[in-house]
Amino acid sequence: MESGTHSTSVAAAPVSRRGWFQGAAAVLGAAMASPAIAQPGTGRKTVLVLGAGMAGLTAALSLLRRGHEVTVIEYQNRIGGRLLSLPLGDGMFTEAGGGHFRSNMPYVLAYVRRFSLPLLSLNDGLPRYMVEGRTGEAANPASWPWALSREERNVSVSTMLNQYLYRAGLDTDTVLDSRWPDDDALDRLGNVTLGDLIRGVGASEVFCKLLDAHGGTFTSGSMALGAIPDLAYHFGDQNLFRIQGGNSRLPLAMAAAIGRDRFVLDAPVARIDQSGPTVRVATRDGREFTGDAVVSTIPFSVMDDVEVLPHWSPRKRRMIAEMEWDRTVKIIAKTRTPSWLTRSVHGWPMAGGDRPWERVIDITGNEPGGHGSVFFYLNGSNADAVLALPKEQRAPATLAQFRQDMPDLFDEVLSTDSFAWSEQPWIKGSFGGPALGGAWMVQEWQKPEGRIHFAGDFTTLKTGWVEGAIESGLRAARQIDPQARPEGNPRIRQEI
Ligand SMILES: Cc1cc2nc3c(=O)[nH]c(=O)nc-3n(C[C@H](O)[C@H](O)[C@H](O)COP(=O)(O)OP(=O)(O)OC[C@H]3O[C@@H](n4cnc5c(N)ncnc54)[C@H](O)[C@@H]3O)c2cc1C
Repeated sequence: MESGTHSTSVAAAPVSRRGWFQGAAAVLGAAMASPAIAQPGTGRKTVLVLGAGMAGLTAALSLLRRGHEVTVIEYQNRIGGRLLSLPLGDGMFTEAGGGHFRSNMPYVLAYVRRFSLPLLSLNDGLPRYMVEGRTGEAANPASWPWALSREERNVSVSTMLNQYLYRAGLDTDTVLDSRWPDDDALDRLGNVTLGDLIRGVGASEVFCKLLDAHGGTFTSGSMALGAIPDLAYHFGDQNLFRIQGGNSRLPLAMAAAIGRDRFVLDAPVARIDQSGPTVRVATRDGREFTGDAVVSTIPFSVMDDVEVLPHWSPRKRRMIAEMEWDRTVKIIAKTRTPSWLTRSVHGWPMAGGDRPWERVIDITGNEPGGHGSVFFYLNGSNADAVLALPKEQRAPATLAQFRQDMPDLFDEVLSTDSFAWSEQPWIKGSFGGPALGGAWMVQEWQKPEGRIHFAGDFTTLKTGWVEGAIESGLRAARQIDPQARPEGNPRIRQEI
């Protein structure tokens, strides 16, 4: 490791039940003063929500506002699931999970506004790429060293991708509509990789590699159907933000609005039994809860740990077993200053390549504190290579590889840490989605199994995005009560 670099722990301090609620109440202010919970109607139901991430909280809050009785049962002793903010010192926060949002996310915008959360502005990617051993900067496409096609020269990866999507009959707006895809898109895009789709309309091999270096999680080898909404977020909007004080403030604010007595924390669900007249949910410590309906946001990656009676239908069992989960590792670093800005390099990502460090994201933006805040985002075989190392070596090894390739971007590294999603027992992964040929899951995850309704970002094509988690929570709530509404006033487009 470079001199001046030392490792300090920025691990999440588990928050006690009292602690998380007090924290939530403190940030909530005006929103808590007007809970606006509807009077119980004649069709009042008792609903058990499994999981206190954004999907479960969305479902719980919208059902509560309609007068239903809601209990949220959560594996961990904290609220927020994959929104997990970690203090970096000097008032700064990094994010182990969901790190940023964009202004083409109407639900996220409505929810952060509803709870009056202050925002930080972030720069989008003006990256330096390192692909096939050569380096080029987004700020200067005229000097790119790769064998791009004539039309791919002198334009950004984002602009050219949008043109390829247009040629393929797609655009970054329509694919984010909550009713997309239609049957035609499901058929057309479920059996083709993103790379094959865009190569079919003119993309060169090296353009696909640059796209992978920029986009990261979904690559040109991913199923087009699953990858395209992700690209629409990464390449359709450049206005990035996160929540000042940490993105976890959003789930904490929602939890405070729901009320502490409605949460059961530290309570991994071990059994869901709907063989009788009600649904019975048992936790590992032997507690039992009874309801008229269940909203399950339990990630499919850990669903095998839950006994379900009667057993899942064959298609649900297949969906749960065949969904693929990434093993993302984040390597977190705080630098003395955001020194890369002086090199005209910044954003989401600020560097990306076919290198072991994969992508590095600059989330500093206008966060007060004065230091630089970045994380490396490792997936697939890059994540596996780092996971093979002991925890204390992961950050130093990744930083050393990066420093070798791009020695001028970081000044002094003040602290480092790492967070491995596959090592979290409550999810054992980061993002779930169907593999090539798995388009049939899109309809399957929307269908309840008896009185069990499914939610979670992985039950949408906006997997890996809070917008998808909120959308799924609302969908499940509306299956129970068609009048269930989102918070605030999201500007959702109704007609394509
Ligand atoms: C590395 C990473 C980066 C990301 N970056 C972004 C980003 O930049 N922008 C963005 O919008 N989104 C991002 N996301 C995605 C975002 O974090 C998720 O979309 C969202 O938080 C998912 O919410 P959820 O409720 O669907 O699932 P989760 O938050 O995973 O909630 C599921 C909950 O179920 C609980 N649970 C599991 N098993 C049981 C059980 N047996 N009993 C009871 N409870 C159980 C878990 O503890 C958890 O709290 C990122 C995620 C990761 C991992």
